[in-house]
Amino acid sequence: MDHFLYKNGALHAEDVPVAEIAAAVGTPFYVYSTATLLRHFKLFDDALEGMDHLVCYAMKAASNQAILKTLGDAGAGMDVVSGGEYMRAKAAGVPGDRIVFSGVGKTADEIRLALTGGIRQFNVESEPEMQVLNAVALELGVVAPITIRVNPDVDAKTHAKIATGKSENKFGIPISRAHEVYAMAGAMKGLDVIGIDVHIGSQLTDLAPFEAAYNKVAELTEELRAQGHNIKRLDLGGGLGIPYERSNEAPPLPSDYGALVKRTLGHLGCEIEIEPGRLIAGNAGLMVSEVIYVKEGEDREFLIIDGAMNDLIRPAMYDAHHDIVPVVEPAAGIEMAKYDVVGPVCESGDTFAKHREMAPMKSGDLVAFRSAGAYGAVMASEYNSRPLIPEVLVNGDQFAVIRARPTFDEMINRDTIPEWL
Ligand SMILES: *Cc1c(COP(=O)(O)O)cnc(C)c1O
Repeated sequence: MDHFLYKNGALHAEDVPVAEIAAAVGTPFYVYSTATLLRHFKLFDDALEGMDHLVCYAMKAASNQAILKTLGDAGAGMDVVSGGEYMRAKAAGVPGDRIVFSGVGKTADEIRLALTGGIRQFNVESEPEMQVLNAVALELGVVAPITIRVNPDVDAKTHAKIATGKSENKFGIPISRAHEVYAMAGAMKGLDVIGIDVHIGSQLTDLAPFEAAYNKVAELTEELRAQGHNIKRLDLGGGLGIPYERSNEAPPLPSDYGALVKRTLGHLGCEIEIEPGRLIAGNAGLMVSEVIYVKEGEDREFLIIDGAMNDLIRPAMYDAHHDIVPVVEPAAGIEMAKYDVVGPVCESGDTFAKHREMAPMKSGDLVAFRSAGAYGAVMASEYNSRPLIPEVLVNGDQFAVIRARPTFDEMINRDTIPEWL
């Protein structure tokens, strides 16, 4: 459930008509719903009730500071994957002891930044990283709390570009080598080994791969404990999928997921962390765009809109489906048209949908891409010198621009022309 509904024939973001935001900020833009963000966070928080836990929002999904502050103020931790994300989380007021640092390529500088500014734990992904982390910690005279990310070699049954838990993926250490690597880590004076981390992929629509992975984590926990490691925290990653198509069978709910966590890991008495990104932000955001032209092709009609692949890359990158709905509710029983929905960028890949059945549209009409809150604005670029599009946050009947559209000058003036030119 989200808070983007038609009221009196007009699509609303909570209590604000989407058309009103479009008139104020221009198109295209992203709009997020505070109520939806908080609702999704609470679903996870409630799902783990009864277990010591922290929901660490995977902020790479949507990292505007207003979103981070909304979730952080509600008690969420953050999962960060770069020094920039760490700084953003801190800037949004999230304390270091609620920030976990994931990622395969943490640099010594990023590690130093987090160790100095405060960190809950590092999720270490390799032996060389472990050595650098140990060295930086010793240099700073601190001890770094770590979990080690294991790669359980399970098939997440998701898009290849977002599967991370197979042995062919770059993530974590093979679970078969865990004993050896934990022994190494345990001997390093700059590290405090406190747990295990696993994240098998994104947009999972079935609980079975989670179950397979968590069973392996349970087994490993007991083995490592038997070897003298004080395993007290399990970071279970993110990955629960969302329904991108209304017509689809709905993916499992956070409550089902929570029950699975309790069933597979509850007996271990560990503190549980989860890192949902998509399920918190995905259905909490729309991308709104205006129709520029309706163009007659030889055998199809093109709906050419002012949003493009640089603003929302998921369809081009992952063949992702987004429901595209008109901002003015179509009359009941209206005869549908079929469009290829495309942006203005000079690539055929700039196609959002083919043969999409929609109410007839005309130049100037507004459309909204549903489920665009996660991996939308954060993956945008200025390809074709199209300025990054604004982000807007709605809360009840109020809305605010949380990232403004740069002017052409602001965009262009980021370049510097050398003196000798
Ligand atoms: C991307 C990522 C997540 C979030 O995945 P979602 O599918 O958005 O929930 C969590 N943890 C790690 C380590 C990630 O890389």
